[in-house]
This record gives sequence, structure tokens and C-alpha cells, in this order.
Amino acid sequence: MGFLEELRALFPPGRLLTKEAELAPYESDALTAYRKRPLAVVLPQRKEEVVEAVRLCHRHGVPFVARGSGTSLSGGSLPVEGGLVIALNRMNRILRLDPKARIAVVEPGVVNLEVSRAAAPYGLYYAPDPSSQPISTIGGNVAFNSGGAHCLKYGMTANHVLGLEVVTPEGEVVRLGGEGLEGVGPDLHGFFVGTEGLLGVALEVTLRLLPKPEAYHTLLAAYGSLEAAGETVSRILRQGLLPGAIEIMDRLAIEAAEAAVKAGYPRAEALLIVELEGPREEVAEEARVLEALIRESGAQEVRVARDEAERQAIWKGRKAAFSAVGRLSPDYIVQDGVVPRSRLAEALREIGRLSQAYGLRVANVFHAGDGNLHPLVLYDGKKPGELERAEALAGEILRLCIQLGGSLTGEHGIGVEKKAYMPEMFAKEDLEAMERVKRALDPKGLANRGKVLPEVAHGRG
Ligand SMILES: Cc1cc2nc3c(=O)[nH]c(=O)nc-3n(C[C@H](O)[C@H](O)[C@H](O)COP(=O)(O)OP(=O)(O)OC[C@H]3O[C@@H](n4cnc5c(N)ncnc54)[C@H](O)[C@@H]3O)c2cc1C
Repeated sequence: MGFLEELRALFPPGRLLTKEAELAPYESDALTAYRKRPLAVVLPQRKEEVVEAVRLCHRHGVPFVARGSGTSLSGGSLPVEGGLVIALNRMNRILRLDPKARIAVVEPGVVNLEVSRAAAPYGLYYAPDPSSQPISTIGGNVAFNSGGAHCLKYGMTANHVLGLEVVTPEGEVVRLGGEGLEGVGPDLHGFFVGTEGLLGVALEVTLRLLPKPEAYHTLLAAYGSLEAAGETVSRILRQGLLPGAIEIMDRLAIEAAEAAVKAGYPRAEALLIVELEGPREEVAEEARVLEALIRESGAQEVRVARDEAERQAIWKGRKAAFSAVGRLSPDYIVQDGVVPRSRLAEALREIGRLSQAYGLRVANVFHAGDGNLHPLVLYDGKKPGELERAEALAGEILRLCIQLGGSLTGEHGIGVEKKAYMPEMFAKEDLEAMERVKRALDPKGLANRGKVLPEVAHGRG
């Protein structure tokens, strides 16, 4: 039997998509500049169906891509031309929630925010909070080791995954890790997190839940320049404070957020959002130190949230900022480079200079506490040559991050978008080591073919 015939035997018509109109929504992810037509999309409802689909791909040598909600900003869930998309949204059940053990065992298609919703009655929550948390899935978060505003204090997805069940590209089902923090032997589940779907498909994920913080202190400060806001971040951390989140938005990002959700932000060149969280007394003490420091930092206006509604209003604008930028420009590229915190002000100055040199607007909204920049390069894809100019500018920003001692990506992953830059960050020997790991687990190169590893090291087209 041919590949499609065997798929038909596994999936009923409504869960096997092959028609052009059915495939169209799966042709790209949130990085819409890239598009590829898959051969078919399957919509499994049980992990056994995923395993069978992967085994079939292996027997027929057909490349496959796992897909959650398709919110990847680096082309991570872009299909392989002629390959299979395994779309996991229907595997969205929370299988077990154990408040005593503070764990949740979930299917990969569960949406991030649903975990915290389910844990809320027990005073618990799931800490990693990408801005896409109302829509992105735990499977996608695991593959990209996603972060969010509060990962400064609590760490990224990798710090909250205790165990995984995975089907390897050769169709073997393995369990990695367990249900506690103290595992025995090598940290294999930690190894899987962040591998961008290159080493198999996560079928089940065991997550750590945390008690909800007792108190928050959320502060918004307006500055006359981006550098002044960046400098304040360094001072906060030098003071020994470890807030739950430290975020910065520049003027363009503020304008976009205002237009989209009317957050009521002050007009300023830059906004700094700082959130302290933890036991009530500790937060009160830290708040005194923070407010004194902010008063001396030259802030033009300072607002402190007096209740949960005001806190949510501050976060609403920040969380909406990415998608809101769509109001300022028909198209944009989001970059995700990281710089050492001490070089934040320098990086922002240079991005401003590059923006002028290329004649393209760049909006900045980013996780300042861990130096993770998110410059949004605005362009109009209908204007000839503008996409190319935007890509060149985005590339210069990535090179700048590497030169300053940082990294190509903080949380959005390499995907297809940044793989050409991998040799600028890693030595040939490093890339070859990555390639050897990939080949050992996926000799046919089927899982998410063409992502992350540049062709030079791949030796494959
Ligand atoms: C408006 C907006 C805001 C965002 N904000 C943030 C942010 O603050 N922080 C952040 O980190 N990211 C952010 N992102 C990026 C994106 O949401 C994350 O990368 C997210 O983890 C992707 O989840 P998804 O379910 O959409 O995965 P998809 O885009 O469908 O897939 C992402 C990758 O995961 C792989 N994958 C999916 N499921 C599995 C599985 N079960 N097993 C193995 N591999 C799998 C795919 O093959 C692909 O490589 C944002 C995106 C948007 C559009």
C-alpha cells in the first residue's frame, strides 16, 4: 500500500486532510513570510495514532512536522514540502492534576493557560507565561523551551517539565524523566526540551505546578529615552532585587498597544514594567527599595497598581504588544536575540542607528531582566525589495547580539528563519556534534527536516 492509502486506513476522512483548501491553513505558522504545501495533515486524538503516523512516515521515508497551534515566530512549524503535518490540537486533555504532588500530566495539545486555569482552584499555577499563552500549546512550548515575562524569576519551560513521553523519529516510544525534581541518571527530558521537534514528538508532558504568589507589587515607570529605562534595569538587578518580571516597551510599541487595547499607558519614549511577587512581607520590603530606586532613576511618571484590576491593565498592553504592532505596519519580523544585561543600553542604541540606516521602523518590546530583546522590524511586503531590506536589518541585529556576547535566540527558536546564522554563533565542530546527535536518533532525517541545522553541517538538501 502507498503512504496515503495507509494513512486513510488509520485516520477517518475528517481527520486526514489532503485537499488544497484544507491544507491552506497549515502552510505557514506565525512567520507568514514562509509557506510550504504539505502532502497531508493528520489530526490525531490519541497518542497511539501519533505513534502509528510516525511509524508510517519512517517506513515510507516521508518527513513530518509536529504542530501545536502554529504560533512559532521562526518557521518552526512550517511544513516540509510533500511531507506530513501531525497537528496535535485535538490532543488537549489534562490527564491528571495532583495538587498534593503539585504536578499536571497533560497531552501535548493542551493550551498553556488551560493548565493554570485547571490548577487555580488548588491555589496553584503553571509558571512559564509566553505572551501567546492563551493559544500556544504545551507541546510547542516544550519544543521551543518557551519563556515569558515571569521567566526571569522562575526559569523557562525546561525548569518546569519533570517528565515526558516521546515517540522517536524511528517510532519507538520512550519515557524520559519522571514526576519529581530529583531524577536518577542523565537529564534526558531536559535534553529533549528545546530541540524544536528534531528528535521526535512529545506525546505526554508532566509539568511542575507552583503555589500562586501571596502578593504582587506591579509598577509602571515612564522614561524620556530607551537607554534610561535600560540603565534602570541594570540598577535594579545590581541592587540585588529579583523581580518576577522586568519588561520594557518603546514608543512605537506603546502606541501600538494603546491603539489595540487602550491600556491607558502614559505617553513616553519608553515604559518599564517591574513586578515583584512572593510572600507579602518580603514583597513589601522589596517594594520600598524598588520605589526609592525608581524615584532616583529620572522616571517622568510612576504608577503602582493598587489592585488586581490595575495590575491586569498594566499587563494587558504588554501582552498584546506583539500582535498590536500589526496595526502600525502590514508586515513585521520579530527578532529574539539576547544580550548580556550590562550591554542592554548599548544594544538599544545600535538598533536605533541600524533602523535609521535601513530606513525601516523598529519597535522594541522585550524581557529586559534577562536581556532578551524583541525588536520588531516593520515593513510592507507589497513594496518591492522591502522584505529583503527588513531581513538584512534583522540579520544585522542578530549579528550585533552575538558580537555583544549574547545569543541568536532567547525563546522563539532557530526554526528555518535563523538557521543560516548558526555558523556565526557555533564552531563547525559544534554544529557537527549537533548533527551527529540528530543522525543517531533520526538516521533518515525525517523529524522537522530542514529546521535548525544549517545545510552546510547537514550534508542534506
Ligand atoms: C503574539 C505572539 C506572542 C508570542 N510570545 C512569546 C513569548 O512571550 N515567549 C515565547 O517563548 N514565545 C512566544 N511566541 C512564540 C510561540 O508562541 C511559542 O514558540 C510557542 O511555544 C509555540 O507553540 P505552538 O503550540 O504554537 O507551537 P507550533 O508553532 O505549532 O510549533 C512550534 C515548534 O514546536 C514543535 N512541536 C509542536 N508540538 C510538538 C510536540 N508535541 N512534540 C515535539 N515538537 C512539537 C513544532 O514542530 C515546531 O518546531 C509568541 C508568538 C506569538 C504569535
